[in-house]
Amino acid sequence: MRLRIGHMYPDLMNLYGDRGNVIALARRLQWRGIEAEIVGIAAGDAAALGDFDLLFMGGGQDREQAIVCRDLEARREDLRRAMEADVVLLAVCGGYQLLGHYYRMPDGREIPGLGILDLHTEAGPTRMIGNAACRSEYLPEPGTLVGFENHGGRTYLGPGCAPLATVLSGHGNNGEDGGEGAVYRNVFGTYLHGSLLPKNPHFADLLLGRALARRGAGTMGDPLDDSLEWRAHRVALGLAGVDGREA
Ligand code: GLN
Repeated sequence: MRLRIGHMYPDLMNLYGDRGNVIALARRLQWRGIEAEIVGIAAGDAAALGDFDLLFMGGGQDREQAIVCRDLEARREDLRRAMEADVVLLAVCGGYQLLGHYYRMPDGREIPGLGILDLHTEAGPTRMIGNAACRSEYLPEPGTLVGFENHGGRTYLGPGCAPLATVLSGHGNNGEDGGEGAVYRNVFGTYLHGSLLPKNPHFADLLLGRALARRGAGTMGDPLDDSLEWRAHRVALGLAGVDGREA
């Protein structure tokens, strides 16, 4: 079997090395003997998003988001159909914001989003920066999700999607309601940047499992040796001030 991974806007939306998530997905497939094809999708590229098994969009600054939103507008219906067909999508920070209804920038102007996730984002007076740890009911043991966040936007979820996780330490979606990220069908948004999937192997496998199930694969095979990944996870929990045994 061969899975196709679409990396959306790898040149514009790649803060903190978000592309590491794509590498992690491909490597975890290869370790299981499954072929992975990574395709970069830049603004203006002809691409049928429904032909992919997994899509990834990283974070970017307001300037990049404004460029990307114009290209996304042309892809709105294609992406919507792919989402309703349960293509797996992970979007981080600026990419996550673009899946919502809009992002209102500090100067009051709005960047329109795709409205695929029922949420909107408004820039606040301070930036929310630092290591974060959360607990997610979508994840198997240990259920914790660790990462680093840096955003000025506050994201508020509507009834059409659910939070991905509950904040143990850090800010999450808006620093107020304890939620982090959002989930709708196989679409996952999060504020957790950078090397998210390498140090959260259970989240990587959740995404891969859903993509493989959609292709009719019943099992992911034997578990991988994730001892290094879990060490990194525990270190990140510690950096966020959370004791792994209590989390
Ligand atoms: N516009 C985003 C913000 O809220 C960009 C964040 C990001 O992707 N790091 O700051």
